[in-house]
Parts: sequence; C-alpha cells; structure tokens
Amino acid sequence: MSTAIVWFRRDLRLTDNPALDAALQAHTRVLPVYIDAPEEEAPWPPGAASRWWLHHALQSLDADLRRIGGSLQLCRGASLQVLEHLLAMTNADALYWNRLYDPATVTRDKQVKQTLQDRGISVHSYNAALLCEPWMIATQQGDPYRVFTPYWRKLRAGLEPRPPLPPPARMVTPAVAGGLSLGELGLLPDVAWDVGLRDAWAPTESGAWQEAERFIEDALAGYADQRNLPAIAGTSRLSPYLHFGQISPAQLAWRFEDLAREISVLRKPASEAVESYLRELGWRDFSHHLLFHFPHIAQRNLNPQFDHFPWKRANAAALRRWQQGQTGIPIVDAGMRELWNTGWMHNRVRMVVASFLTKNMRQHWLHGARWFWDTLVDADLPNNTQGWQWTAGSGADAAPYFRIFNPVSQGERFDAEGHYVRRWVPQLAGVEAKWIHKPWRNALLARQLDYPAPMVDLQVSREEALAAYQQMRAAI
Ligand code: FAD
Repeated sequence: MSTAIVWFRRDLRLTDNPALDAALQAHTRVLPVYIDAPEEEAPWPPGAASRWWLHHALQSLDADLRRIGGSLQLCRGASLQVLEHLLAMTNADALYWNRLYDPATVTRDKQVKQTLQDRGISVHSYNAALLCEPWMIATQQGDPYRVFTPYWRKLRAGLEPRPPLPPPARMVTPAVAGGLSLGELGLLPDVAWDVGLRDAWAPTESGAWQEAERFIEDALAGYADQRNLPAIAGTSRLSPYLHFGQISPAQLAWRFEDLAREISVLRKPASEAVESYLRELGWRDFSHHLLFHFPHIAQRNLNPQFDHFPWKRANAAALRRWQQGQTGIPIVDAGMRELWNTGWMHNRVRMVVASFLTKNMRQHWLHGARWFWDTLVDADLPNNTQGWQWTAGSGADAAPYFRIFNPVSQGERFDAEGHYVRRWVPQLAGVEAKWIHKPWRNALLARQLDYPAPMVDLQVSREEALAAYQQMRAAI
C-alpha cells in the first residue's frame, strides 16, 4: 500500500488540482497537509486580511476533503522539518505540490525538493496557478519580457485551454497524531474588525464559482466598457480566490473559451468581453513573470533611475490620513474605506489612491504596498508589486510619470453620479453630483459638511511631483 503527501499551499481546491489528482492516481493513501510557516515568506508574510481569508479557506477545504473520506492535516513549523516528520510517521515515499513563484517560496521549495530527493523521496510539482509559467515565454533574444503587449500577444497565440481535472470522488487518508486545530493556527484577528469581510465574501471553492457565475450572468457582456466603473459590480471579484487557488485561470479560460464559442456566433461584443477578461488574467501572469525574473522588485524599483527619485520623508500622520480615508479627496477616501471595510478595492480606484500617495503626497510606493499587503484579501506579491510600481512610474510598462491621475477628473469620469463616493463616504451622501468629487470648491457647502478639506492642493502637489521627476532625470 503506497502512501503520498500532498502539500497544499495556495491551491486550496479539489477540482483541477494537478498535485492532488496525480497523487491519488498513483497512491492508495494520500495525506493532505497545510503548514503554517509565515516566516518562510519574509519579508512579505501574509497580512491580517489574508490570514482571515486563509482561515476560512482551510476550513472549507477540510470540509470538502471530509466529504470524500479525507481530511486536512494542519501543522506549524519549518516546512522541511514538518514534512520529514510526516513522511516518517506515514511511511510515505512521495510528496506532491503545486508550484509557487515568489522569491522566498521558490528558494524554500528548491531546498525542500533537493533535501527530500537526496533521502529517496520522490517529489512531484505542477502548475496550478498560471496560464503560462514564467520561464515558458521569452523574447527572441531569450530574455524575460518587460512590456506587457508583446508578452500577451505571445502568450495568447499559444494559449490552448484544456478541460479541467475532475474533483476526486473518494480518498483514503492515513491517520496521523499531533495535528493542530484550525483555531490553534491563530489566523483570525483578536479584535473583531472583520465584520465587513464576513458580509462581503464566501471564501470557499464553491464561493469562487458562485462569484464566477454571477459575473458571467450579470457583468461579462459589458466587461470591456464597465470594468472601470467602481459603483457597479462590473468585474469578477475573483482576485482573492485566484490568489488562494480556490479557482484557477485554466478553469476560467476553459469556461470562457466555451462561452466564447457559444456566444461569438450570437454577439460580437460578448466574445470581445471574454478576450478582454483573458487579457486581465494575462496581466496576472505577467506580474508573476516579472517577479520571478526580477525577484528584487518586491522591495526595489525595477527601473533603477527611480533610485534617485526625491521621495518626501515618511510622514506618519499623513500616511494615517490616507490609510483611514481622511484625505479630503472623495474618491481617494471612498477607495480607502472600501478597502478597510471589505478587504478589496476596485482596480480603477486602486490606481487613483496609489497615484495620490506616490505623486500628490510623494510618499514612497512601498508605504502603500505595505498597507495594501495587510488589508487586501487578495494581497498578492506579484500583482501588488506590479500595481504599485506601475502607478509610481518605476515599474515595467509603467504609466509615464508625467501622467498623474487627477482624482477629481477620474471621479467625474468613472463615478459621474457619485454613487461610489456616497456609498463609502456617508458624510457626502447629500451632496449633488456636480460637487461630489470637489466639495471644497463650493465654500458654502464645504462649511456645512463634516468632511476634511483636502490634505494637499492637487495642482501645487502635481507641479511639485513633476519638478521632482525632472530633478531625478537631471541626477542620472
Ligand atoms: P477583474 O477585472 O475581474 O480581473 C480578473 C483577474 O485578472 C483578477 O482577479 C486578477 O487576478 C487579474 N487582474 C486584473 N487586473 C489586474 C492587474 N492590473 N494586474 C494584475 N492582475 C490583474 N491584484 C491582486 O490580485 N492582488 C493585489 O495585491 C493587487 N494589488 C494592486 C495594487 C495596485 C496599486 C493596483 C493598481 C492594482 C493591484 N492589483 C492587485 C490588480 C487589480 O487591481 C486587481 O487584480 C483587481 O482589482 C481584482 O478585481 P477583480 O478580480 O474583480 O478583477
């Protein structure tokens, strides 16, 4: 009777799980394991909102495994030692996992693989998280891509969606003493700040599919046009599920390809919408490609010219106002409050708040990246790094520095009626659309509102940012 261990990490699903599927094909007994080892992900161990999600995702994975005769072994400690212990306890001779791509886990996994192989354990790893792994695509010169469009053209040309692997029907898990209870992992917060998160999300594999089908039914057809409107649920909201692997891009690509075949004969815009959605999944792959090939970028600028950029000294009071949604700029405050309440923020607003922090406040992008890291339920090192560096101007394919988002015109363009701002900033609920994105410009109104004046002058800070950029260029 052969026994194997499946090491779950960010692949917390039963369907289309290549490591689990392969282990069950080859072995009669399979032990599913999750090891809590946040220090192994330093300097980016999972933040508070991620740990909240993880708690519920593990709970649901264990329940799903129990329905087919298995259960999830929860452990804490150095991954290699925990795995060695479990391999010995179960007499297992094989270990299966799905690959991760961020620098800290790549280093750890290489070491685990080498050590265990040297001891005669067979180690098998798979792609369960990306359309295309970072080393599969290169420029004609054999280099990694730094620009998205040619990267995506190449990826898309070779993309052949495959049918997802079915979920296992039955499994046998060996009994192992000494596992931890979920509560013992201590993933939930001590103070109950998570009420809004509980209302907003169902962090389960079935929750992922409910969200995906909601998106297909209600929003997909209008995705290309409406994905920029933060007041409506015009995007898939699948980012946390994708991060924790409760749904995979391959599953989505297959579902959408199927859909595109059906509807392309009916309606052209619908197939364009599918194309536009796949392109966003392509951005996710591109972020992984960048971080894999340039592992320093989670901490340092991809474009080294920005090492000379004159950021302002970290200003704790100003950062607190930004974090708490008290900047006095309505669309920025709405975004920061949506983030605090739900653990998620609309992509358009992420760009606006990030631009405000790095350009109008001229605070280093890492301050923003760290706050997002702690508060986003979809906090994802490749995507967060890419999003911040892109907005700050220091990243790959970055927005040219001189294109500074004006939060007033962004608000007027993408939240024309002000519904998004009114939802998250109730102090502005009664303000008419004409003033909702710039209440300070109406002196009488501003005096009546219980809402702060802008913490920076948008025009002056914009000019200062441009001058700082020129200073950087002169220093090179
Ligand atoms: P949809 O529009 O439905 O897109 C589908 C999927 O494509 C997303 O779930 C996501 O996985 C991927 N995707 C979409 N846009 C992007 C993008 N610009 N870059 C990379 N992948 C993308 N995304 C994260 O998943 N985690 C983060 O930590 C994160 N931090 C960000 C920080 C900043 C400053 C910015 C500007 C963007 C960040 N993003 C991050 C990217 C993007 O905002 C989110 O992926 C998106 O808002 C998730 O919502 P959705 O699932 O409804 O997206």
